[in-house]
Amino acid sequence: MPRESKRAKRERATEICRRMGELYPHVESALNFTTPFTMVICVLLSAQTTDVAVNKVTPELFSRWPDAEHMAQANPAEIAEVIRSIGFYRTKSVHCVEASQMILSEFGGEVPRTMKELTRLPGVGRKTANIVLNKAFGIVEGIAVDTHVFRLATRWKLTNKPTPLQAEQDLLDIIPQELWEPVNEQWIHFGRDTCRAQNPLCDGCPLADICPSFGKANGNPKPRASKTARTKRA
Ligand code: SF4
Repeated sequence: MPRESKRAKRERATEICRRMGELYPHVESALNFTTPFTMVICVLLSAQTTDVAVNKVTPELFSRWPDAEHMAQANPAEIAEVIRSIGFYRTKSVHCVEASQMILSEFGGEVPRTMKELTRLPGVGRKTANIVLNKAFGIVEGIAVDTHVFRLATRWKLTNKPTPLQAEQDLLDIIPQELWEPVNEQWIHFGRDTCRAQNPLCDGCPLADICPSFGKANGNPKPRASKTARTKRA
């Protein structure tokens, strides 16, 4: 693909978002949550595992520990028993209790509504905070970049950054702010349905005419350490 100007890349990114909107006009979170607190816990649990797996454990989890007050007093080992079918369940059970304790001690029992405060909660990074702000409070401060979004943004050459966190900054720079809100859900769906990690369905793809990876993509990009991190380690 010839070198693309920033303006042309912005226009292509906007067109991609427009087509995603046509394909997926009504996307909803697949996670079952009822309150901002249960949303935080659901998203925290969903790292490195599927939403379906999370939805299987949360009915018992939230019936025993429905809010921050109850979960703050829980024994992490008991929570671990309930969520042991999902990945990293031991670490996640500790994060559930510690995040609940912080919500009580530092935020008056309410889930905070800013990126800065949310990312102080144990187990909550920028991706999780973006999802919670968006889904629980309708606040759009960024774009949650998970494995699917990172793969697609890289394939579409909207970023060449080595990590999802850095890729988000490129996306925020080229996608108009009013289009940020549905990006995560729509791209996840498209990444599952069409632009799969292995053997993407390029023939007949609705982005075939504007995708620089048509017929050439396979696998997920491997997040790499940035140059700075490599220099520090060296
Ligand atoms: S053309 Fe292929 S690589 Fe490009 S978006 Fe479509 S499925 Fe993905």
